[in-house]
Amino acid sequence: MPDSALVDSILVLPFGDFPEAVSYFVAGKVEERFGRAAHVLEPVALPEETFVPARSQYSSTLLLRYILARIPKTESSVIGLTDVDLCTPVLAFVFGQAQLGGRAAVVSTHRLHQEYYGLPHNDAVLLERLGKEVVHELGHTCGMVHCQERRCVMYFSNSIREVDAKQDTFCPPCARLASATL
Ligand SMILES: [Zn+2]
Ligand SMILES: [Zn+2]
Repeated sequence: MPDSALVDSILVLPFGDFPEAVSYFVAGKVEERFGRAAHVLEPVALPEETFVPARSQYSSTLLLRYILARIPKTESSVIGLTDVDLCTPVLAFVFGQAQLGGRAAVVSTHRLHQEYYGLPHNDAVLLERLGKEVVHELGHTCGMVHCQERRCVMYFSNSIREVDAKQDTFCPPCARLASATL
């Protein structure tokens, strides 16, 4: 596929054995919310250099760097998907991270699973949470910042309750901003 075909599309990059069906769910959600075509890429092995031994977690910042180095410089945005636990130097964990106004974003399902909270597995709950976090992080790549409206997808979620309290859609002011920048 020529690079030009990827301009304005969104690439979905699964790491490791991330479930294929879930990658395609993400692609559908992204197309719905951003009105851009999404393509699911071949999975790649999780780069071991992103592991932080002192934390027993993976660095979301290093994963973003890896994604940027790997994906050709088209205008596409890339959303990496993983199930490992992510952290940054200053945060104990993150559901995801993105470059503000950049190309790369990453989201982990690790803490989106009901099992993580001692509850039975629930696909619907997992996908709902994942959709919100993916739209949130890709919103950052479009230059969108955090919103104070708790139900807006751009609200900063630092806990699973906050993820559950928001929707996977932009509040009216954020929607206006999104349509102006997309
Ligand atoms: Zn954010
Ligand atoms: Zn908002």
